[in-house]
Amino acid sequence: MRAMVLDKPRQALQLRDVEKPRPSKGQLLVRIATCAVCRTDLHVADGELPDPKLPLIPGHQIVGHVEEIGEELNSKFQVGDRVGIPWLGWTDGKCAFCRSNRENLCDQARFTGYTIDGGYAEFTVADARFCFHLPDRYDDVEVAPLLCAGLIGYRSYRKTGDARRLGMYGFGNAAHLIAQIALYEGRDLFVFTRPGDMETQQNAKALGANWAGGSDELPPEKLDAAIIFASVGPLVPAALRALAKGGIVVCGGIHMSDIPSFPYADLWEERIITSVANLTRRDGDEFFDIVPRVRVLTKTETFRLEEANVALDRFRAGELKGTAVLVMDVN
Ligand SMILES: [Zn+2]
Ligand SMILES: [Zn+2]
Repeated sequence: MRAMVLDKPRQALQLRDVEKPRPSKGQLLVRIATCAVCRTDLHVADGELPDPKLPLIPGHQIVGHVEEIGEELNSKFQVGDRVGIPWLGWTDGKCAFCRSNRENLCDQARFTGYTIDGGYAEFTVADARFCFHLPDRYDDVEVAPLLCAGLIGYRSYRKTGDARRLGMYGFGNAAHLIAQIALYEGRDLFVFTRPGDMETQQNAKALGANWAGGSDELPPEKLDAAIIFASVGPLVPAALRALAKGGIVVCGGIHMSDIPSFPYADLWEERIITSVANLTRRDGDEFFDIVPRVRVLTKTETFRLEEANVALDRFRAGELKGTAVLVMDVN
């Protein structure tokens, strides 16, 4: 099968013919239709995350169809089913985190497209227990970005509890997706962009945001929560200053530049800063329960498998108009 392979961080991926994987017990062999490109793929390719499997097939927002099931009598999937494969690929099920409904923090967790091979390929295998059925109302391209931008964005959103006034710093694909769910659930939305990015601010208002402005501005009202989608550390104290008492800042990314120091008074009165790591299967079940109802719209740009480097380069340069999605079979 054809695959795009990372031999070493900070090198371009190589198009290779590699052996088609075979499913072991409980695994699905999946013929991949699409795989969306996540910022984390960039962090892996650029060597910003430690100890990836090498050589590695990146990609963890995988949509495909089950071609074979490795000896399993009671799989929740059947041959031919459409399936989504996310970032969380395997957990041990027995560490203290797994036993307390926090499998996202599992000591032994394995991650698709990072510590196990992912979806920049024609086929992959995945542990069926970590795969999802996907809602019919989204096609293979539309649904791919939901598998990480959507899922981990949703976990960030859930961390904000029932915050009425919700801020979002950075309004890229994940934010855009989660904003639609937040508005559907009746939150008041305040969007912060790069100072002067009027186009994105207009887009946010058109979507239904109460207010949009630069990240150097304060919102017209204090916020109950803010999610930071940009990997920019100085946004953390900026967001803290925008919070009401008891508010929470949720850092949604896997990687962020250093956070500058700030006065304790900005944290005082029970304000909270937290990060979000990975996802649990429960997050996925909840999310895929909501998205058939909300119909979140995503902007995408499609690329062929062998164009993965182009997609990554354009992502890195900030030149994408939507989430990059690799499409395996372009006839
Ligand atoms: Zn565990
Ligand atoms: Zn991701």
